[in-house]
Amino acid sequence: MIKDRVSLSALANVALFLGSGLSIYYALSYLISNATEGPTAVEAKKRSEAALKRFTARRPDLDLDLDEYEKLILAEVIAPEDISVGFDDIGGLEDIVDDLRESVLYPLTVPGLFSSGSPLLSAPKGVLLYGPPGCGKTMLAKALAAESSATFINIKMSTILDKWFGQSNKLVAAIFSLAHKLQPSIVFIDEIDSFLRERQKMDHEVTSMLKAEFMTLWDGLTSDGRILVLGATNRPNDIDSAFLRRMPKRFAVRLPKPPQRRKILELLLRGTELDPEFDLDAVVANTAGMSGSDIKEACRDAVMVPAREYFREHYAAAKGGAVPRAPADTRIRALKTTDFFLGQPATEEFGETLSSALD
Ligand code: ATP
Repeated sequence: MIKDRVSLSALANVALFLGSGLSIYYALSYLISNATEGPTAVEAKKRSEAALKRFTARRPDLDLDLDEYEKLILAEVIAPEDISVGFDDIGGLEDIVDDLRESVLYPLTVPGLFSSGSPLLSAPKGVLLYGPPGCGKTMLAKALAAESSATFINIKMSTILDKWFGQSNKLVAAIFSLAHKLQPSIVFIDEIDSFLRERQKMDHEVTSMLKAEFMTLWDGLTSDGRILVLGATNRPNDIDSAFLRRMPKRFAVRLPKPPQRRKILELLLRGTELDPEFDLDAVVANTAGMSGSDIKEACRDAVMVPAREYFREHYAAAKGGAVPRAPADTRIRALKTTDFFLGQPATEEFGETLSSALD
């Protein structure tokens, strides 16, 4: 009888143990699946499904069989026809454009041309664009993709590392396998220094493994030149020398000098009516020290001056009331040189040149 009672309570204990074990297991797996299927993952899945739909509609000829990681990367793909930048929109970087055309664009688009010559004549597997922010590195990369009709895979490594830390090695592999499936392709890695910086002892194990994997996949690219890794950075000195070696073609995209600023200004102002007295030389002189992006902002500020005058003149009475229709016979006046001198200087140097010009 006592024996029966002991075995019954032992049985109850075992059942309790198994029951609680099972509930812990289910609770944990629920938590884990919630973490990996959280709002970010769901959102990313939706984006990648939409990207896949768009892609297959555009390229029905391609029978794409993608795994879930390649689909995630597909969301970062920009089709060449969706890129509105061409080499002609880039001012003052003609030397770089010419070199890119010959060393990257032709091998990417006409690989046969290169395979028939010397074995030394092959496209680089990596190209680095470096220089201060806002000087046209991204523009060059996009124009290259558009003009070569290559698939442009725009990767921000920081996003991959932050969002998908545990799965980043699978995503890195997916970058290369997707680039292979969609070739010719350009894998553009902005802020490449944040990922491929000098390897350090304190690097997290995952980061070190990721870098090693990236290098292996990069080395594994066949030399027919149909996949190109294009990096951009503001801090080339921070990049690991082993990675730098894999980007033998490097282009310095520096702050524009006066003739380059003139070209950028001519491009940016091409659709704007200029006053007959407009002095482009004065504007070129007063944009010293500015990047292409600063010059664009200065142009934006300048064209706002006549626009603001127009609004004040014609719509001042409408404050708080309905906006009246524009009188048919008035237009916004042409842009004057002085409009450039009324906005906020974008850089210290610009401010100094400006004040000396106005003295
Ligand atoms: P970051 O290092 O911050 O990514 P970046 O060098 O990649 O900067 P871009 O994104 O290419 O700079 O340029 C920013 C914007 O500045 C462009 O969209 C363009 O409007 C303008 N711009 C920069 N350089 C030029 C240029 N050489 N010709 C015409 N526009 C330019």
